[in-house]
Amino acid sequence: MSTKLLPFINKCLYFAQISLWPALCVVCRQPSDTQRDLCTACAIRLIHIPDPCLGCGLPLPPGRPPDRRCGTCTAGLRAIHRTLAPFAWQPPLAPLVSAYKYHGQLQCGRVLSELLLEEIRASYAAAALPQLLLPVPLHPRRLRERGYNQALLVARQVGRALNLPVAPTLLRRIRDTPAQQGLHAAERKRNLRRAFSLGDITPLSGLTRIAVVDDVITTMSTVDTLARLLHRRLPETLEIHAWAFVRA
Ligand SMILES: [Zn+2]
Ligand SMILES: [Zn+2]
Repeated sequence: MSTKLLPFINKCLYFAQISLWPALCVVCRQPSDTQRDLCTACAIRLIHIPDPCLGCGLPLPPGRPPDRRCGTCTAGLRAIHRTLAPFAWQPPLAPLVSAYKYHGQLQCGRVLSELLLEEIRASYAAAALPQLLLPVPLHPRRLRERGYNQALLVARQVGRALNLPVAPTLLRRIRDTPAQQGLHAAERKRNLRRAFSLGDITPLSGLTRIAVVDDVITTMSTVDTLARLLHRRLPETLEIHAWAFVRA
């Protein structure tokens, strides 16, 4: 078949698909005008973190050149090397994350993971990707209640698209910490200490970059605690990246 014909056929099939079986937008519940379950009108309402710090993802003062780090990250006070959590905790994204995490609406997670994937591709266009993905673990009791680990599903979807392996059981949550929402940073830290353990680190040998995957990064306490745990048994030179939908 001619190389010109194939893209034309694909385009026709695409338009036939979105006209005959339109996806439903997970935000406005109207037929989506795109290939994913998110319409163009809702997608442009998503709020990106402006000028994020490369280390922690928080917004830097306006006017700074891109890819810079805030004072805390420049001073080397974080165990995380690079954070990508591109969206702000604002509608329409925040209700989608809650629907995914707390109400079993896995289609919201699929859309969020696709959005994250686009951001990863753009952000790492000129940088080497991590070589392995580690989802933030849930305590077994929480996993039984929820039925799924939201961070693992994100890691699997992103990993499949980027051809990156996922190690789902390397990090374990051994204490069921209370909900972190509404706690100060010091209380979170206290809560998280000894909450996690590290399994067999053989899959990490020889790696130089890994990413910890979560849904929301609030104070960096969780990802920072995990990075410090990893660094206790692995070289300091191992770059630990953190990926999530939201930097709250
Ligand atoms: Zn919509
Ligand atoms: Zn920073």
